[in-house]
Amino acid sequence: MECPTCENRCSIPNGGSGVCGMYANHEGVISERFPDQYLVMVPSAIESMPMLHYHPGSKFLQVCTIGCNFRCSGCVSWILTESLVAIESAVRRTSPEDIVAKAMEENCRGVMFCFNEPAVSFPTFKRVATLARSQGLLVGCATNGYFTETAFQELLQHIDFINLGIKGCTDETYAQFGATSASPMFRNLKASFEYGVATEVAAVYVRGHEDELLETARRVAAVSRDIPFQVMRFIPLGTAEASGEPSIREAEHLCQQLGKLLKFVYLFNAPGTSFLDTYCPECGESVIQRGFNGPMCAHVSGYRDGGTCGCGHTLPVIGAFEKESGAQVLGFFGGYKTISSLESIQTVLAFLGERRPEVVASVLHQILETDFIKDLYARTKTIDSYLDTVDHYAQLAGRTREAQELRIYIEDKVAFIREQAKGADRPYVYFSLGHPLVAVFGDKFECNLVEIAGGCCANKDLLRDETPGVALQDETLRQLDPDIILSSGGMGFPVEDVQAYCSHHHLDLKASRGGRIHNLHPFPASGRPDWILGLMQMANLIHPELFHFDMDRIGEDFYSRFLKVPFRAVRKSRSIPPAPTRLGSDGV
Ligand code: SF4
Repeated sequence: MECPTCENRCSIPNGGSGVCGMYANHEGVISERFPDQYLVMVPSAIESMPMLHYHPGSKFLQVCTIGCNFRCSGCVSWILTESLVAIESAVRRTSPEDIVAKAMEENCRGVMFCFNEPAVSFPTFKRVATLARSQGLLVGCATNGYFTETAFQELLQHIDFINLGIKGCTDETYAQFGATSASPMFRNLKASFEYGVATEVAAVYVRGHEDELLETARRVAAVSRDIPFQVMRFIPLGTAEASGEPSIREAEHLCQQLGKLLKFVYLFNAPGTSFLDTYCPECGESVIQRGFNGPMCAHVSGYRDGGTCGCGHTLPVIGAFEKESGAQVLGFFGGYKTISSLESIQTVLAFLGERRPEVVASVLHQILETDFIKDLYARTKTIDSYLDTVDHYAQLAGRTREAQELRIYIEDKVAFIREQAKGADRPYVYFSLGHPLVAVFGDKFECNLVEIAGGCCANKDLLRDETPGVALQDETLRQLDPDIILSSGGMGFPVEDVQAYCSHHHLDLKASRGGRIHNLHPFPASGRPDWILGLMQMANLIHPELFHFDMDRIGEDFYSRFLKVPFRAVRKSRSIPPAPTRLGSDGV
């Protein structure tokens, strides 16, 4: 039996399933293996889908199932798609009625299907879409657009808005994801636009693929230059190579070129960029201001006169602005941050030596049964609460002995650093999220580490509300004038770019003059348990006269002891590398 849903057109044998693993053939009838089963249901701003020209700031109920018809290295939702076995028991059966009731109860404007591919749960999606629209809700989805022509026409009848994720414009590129051709995507993009569905596209930018992205933009422009074009700066997650990650400056340079082809070009995964704002195509004025808000997510921070520019030009934005909808994506809840939270649990378990799919799924299931993720942000602000959180996961997974070993390692190192730094001068240290103007909140984990490592954290002196992703003014950083600037690793803003920014903006800072701008790469400073190595690296950088941690040796010991992989494997990706048994002897 041929599956009619996507262009993979799997031939599914009786009793078997297709590429996505989500449909089965029972005696000549193809049906869903997990009907009405959802992993996540969370109210969130539409910018977390992301859609930027549709009901800006409005709250939608974000839902996802599991599985995908593509295999993309570096997928931002890899936990949902990489291994069905690892995740399938974490889903919960939820009727369309319950989803619609939840959307209404939360005052959502509608329902958006994100994170994984709706084609792999098409009947489920149609059921919920039909009911939601009958109740006056708006419905949309993010998809790779690889539906067959017939299935896509059916999809269009069920939705009001869509974000089509474009992988590139050549068959060779699509072949990397297990597909055969780029053509269906462009055919469906044209169909969607002509049908009148609010259409935006998202195209990933991997370093070295600039020409293909420009050609992709030309093909989108051939449909309409008004289609919002979202550039997703590639972040190497899962098994993807770190070398494919372009810097933010490289990505902004490309966006400038793309802006000659299309009217609305946006850059995601780039803290501090001005390419998230909407500029008037007539006069160049900034009309809608947005900030970075985690992976694949933006946050509306301001706009003028309902999207009308001072020159009188009205932007092609559908629906009213709802800045006060209560849909902000804060903490670790909402948008892709929800998925990142699930991945962070899986990561902690891996550091405890637990990678068995059925155990990981069972822990995720138990976590999702409660509101635990909602409070995860608060739970991971201090070392004590972080370690208690690890203990909680360990208990659910039966790994308390390993958690105790990790706790002892961490507490031992923290106590040593505290003791050594006691009484030392405390340099003024500013912690940024890559871009020098994107300050980490002063109460965050990283800032606590700065203080433990013997610094005085400048971020604590910044007066800010909870609005995420808002960049500081140059003048604020000038007044802070930190002795040291630290930034978290791998956010696409290398030290030389920070220096270049300071020099270009005449920021004559002590940190810059003293050569004390540092990136913690490859060590994290929060989230994963190897933040303890980030703390040691911070101590080396803040007090080189006191600390001489040999980070190469320590990294080698730590990762082989807790993660069972060599240090070099960790350097190559933003995510934890797979266990050695899966990809050869050293996990690389
Ligand atoms: S949805 Fe696509 S990948 Fe899944 S079984 Fe059908 S044709 Fe195959």
